[in-house]
Amino acid sequence: MKKHRAPKTATHRRGSGGAPTYYECPECGYLTADQRFGNHEIVCPVCSAYGDGRRVFPTDRLRRLDARIRKYHHDGEPEIVVILAETFLESILEDIIDRILTAQGATVNVREVVLDAQRAIGARIGRLFPTLTGEEFEEAAAELGFREFPRRWRELRKARNAFIHDSPFRGPQEALTEEDSATAMELLDQAYALFVLINNRFAVRSGARSGDTQGN
Ligand SMILES: [Zn+2]
Repeated sequence: MKKHRAPKTATHRRGSGGAPTYYECPECGYLTADQRFGNHEIVCPVCSAYGDGRRVFPTDRLRRLDARIRKYHHDGEPEIVVILAETFLESILEDIIDRILTAQGATVNVREVVLDAQRAIGARIGRLFPTLTGEEFEEAAAELGFREFPRRWRELRKARNAFIHDSPFRGPQEALTEEDSATAMELLDQAYALFVLINNRFAVRSGARSGDTQGN
């Protein structure tokens, strides 16, 4: 099943094989991997503002977490990989929900209250996301080309939970496998692309549009 060629981490990722970098439009919140935007060479395709190159996605915290997860995967520690990858996925979801709230005009206080009131990942995906976007998470992911992502994420959560929570009914799951670890790594890589698309669909501040695309 493994492809016999050099690992692609070195070729398609900048730097040392880690998190990708997306540049954020300071006006509308659009995210793009196009470095020319970060370099102040082209304008935002949504609102025509220039990038300032300062705002990037993901955050430093997610970037550091990404690096740790990759290291543990390399070292063959599936339990740590799965647990940290779940933390990563929940954090990136929180970040995107916060961006959607911001785009809808929520103040810092409101965002804090909303996210505090919905701490559980199931409620954030099942209730908060559709409330804010008008679409189920599964539906949005499928439309954006990531149909399998929600189900695989759910199954990885189950495996993680079975591992960390003892159950008198099932007995504990003694170990997570290399396969779980590989799934976690795929979800980690896909999460960037998916959440950037979700951001660009639901969290771009339309009020920032500079009077449509017709010239002035
Ligand atoms: Zn913009």
